[in-house]
Amino acid sequence: MAVAPVKRRSRSGRKVGSEYGRFIKAVMSWWGDRCHICGHGGARTVDHVLSVAQGGADYDMDNARPAHGWGRSNDNPCVQCSDAAGRLIRCNQIKGETRTVERTREIILGYIASNGKQPPPGFAGTEPSPGRDWMTLPGAEPQ
Ligand SMILES: [Zn+2]
Ligand SMILES: [Zn+2]
Repeated sequence: MAVAPVKRRSRSGRKVGSEYGRFIKAVMSWWGDRCHICGHGGARTVDHVLSVAQGGADYDMDNARPAHGWGRSNDNPCVQCSDAAGRLIRCNQIKGETRTVERTREIILGYIASNGKQPPPGFAGTEPSPGRDWMTLPGAEPQ
């Protein structure tokens, strides 16, 4: 029996259900799958740059970036960072506790250092990342 998706709000007020699922897909198609915290690909959850609890906009592409984390239906740690750290690294969850991207990176690098490893290639801030092709962005068209 087909059940129509129901929009509902969790106890925290965060919208869950089909609308949020569509928003995540839109964020991924706009920003790609590169985690904005660690710099590696394969990110499947959305981090709010300024958290909703701190007044950040919930459904706003400018306030949303892909990040590794634990989603409602998937566990999505960063493979490279987890391998270097010797433990599962879910960038979005660490940021949820620390609030800032810079502090989150320090914590991840700390786990990696205490595991006796070097940051994996591509770790944010350790080398230039190619990022998104700027020529596909609005405003970049030839005049
Ligand atoms: Zn990450
Ligand atoms: Zn990573």
